[in-house]
Amino acid sequence: MSALSRYNALVTGGGRGIGAAAGLALAKAGAKVSLAARNEAQVVEIASEIRRNGQEAFAFRCDVTDPRQVRDLALSATEAMGRIDILVNNAGTATSNPLSKITHAEWQHIMDVNATGTFLCSQAVYEKMASRRWGRIVNVASIAGLEGDKYISAYTAAKHAVVGFTKAMAIESKGKGITVNAVCPGYVDTPLTDETISRIMHHTGKSWEEALMSLLGQSGQPRLIRAHEVADEIVSLCLEESGGRNGELVILDASETP
Ligand code: NAD
Repeated sequence: MSALSRYNALVTGGGRGIGAAAGLALAKAGAKVSLAARNEAQVVEIASEIRRNGQEAFAFRCDVTDPRQVRDLALSATEAMGRIDILVNNAGTATSNPLSKITHAEWQHIMDVNATGTFLCSQAVYEKMASRRWGRIVNVASIAGLEGDKYISAYTAAKHAVVGFTKAMAIESKGKGITVNAVCPGYVDTPLTDETISRIMHHTGKSWEEALMSLLGQSGQPRLIRAHEVADEIVSLCLEESGGRNGELVILDASETP
C-alpha cells in the first residue's frame, strides 16, 4: 500500500509550478487529490495527468481570496473525495517594486492571495479535520517569510504573515491530531520565477542568464530549486509518521550544490 493511499489532499494553486508538482507527488504517494486555482484550464490539465497515471484527481476553479469561493471549494472537494485530510496552501503571487512604487491595490492583492487565502482555506477545512482527529496542513511560505530583501517588502510581509499563522496554528492544533507546518523555499524554477527574471530583463536590459544570476546572487543561492524538491518536502510533512512534526519551517535553499 502506498504511503498516503488512505488520504485525500486539496492543493491550492495546483495548476502549475510548485502546486502542480505537489499534486503530482501526493498522487504518486497514493493520495486522492483535488487541485484548485484561478486558472481552471491548468488544474484540469494536471488532474488529467494524474488520472492518466491511474490515480483519482479532481479540478476546481477557485480564487482563494474570495471567502464564498473558498467555502464552495471545500464543499465540492469534500463531495468529490469524501473528506479532506491534507491541505496544501500553495496559491501565491509576488511582485517586486521599491516602496515608493507599491500601490495600495498591489499591497492588498499580495496580502490577500498569500496570507488571507491561507487563512480562509485553513478555516474552511479545519473543524472537520479536528472532528476526525487527523489532518495535515502545509503552508507554502518562502525564505521571504523568514528574511527580508530589497524590492519585495509586500511579498516579505505577506510570507511573514504565513509563517506567523503557521506557528500560531501549530500550537492551537496540539492534541487535535492536526499538524501545521510550512515549507520555506528560496528561488524555485517555476513560471513565477520566470516572470521575475523577465521583469529584471525588462528593467535592466540584462540577458536571461545575467538576470537569473543577479536574482540568485542577491541571496547566495547556487541554483534554482526544482519544484519537485519542494513537493517531496510537502509529501514528507503529510506522512502518517510525520504526526510528531508540527510548527516546522522547512528551509530549502539548494545550498548543498558545490
Ligand atoms: P506560479 O505562479 O508558478 O503558480 C501559482 C499558482 O497559484 C497558479 O496555479 C495560479 O493559478 C495560482 N493562483 C494565483 N493566485 C491565485 C488565487 N488568487 N486563487 C487561487 N489560485 C491562485 O507560482 P509558484 O512559483 O509555483 O509558487 C507557488 C507558491 O510557492 C506561492 O505561494 C509562492 O509564493 C511560493 N514560493 C515560490 C517561490 C519561487 O521561487 N517560485 C519561492 C518560494 C515560495
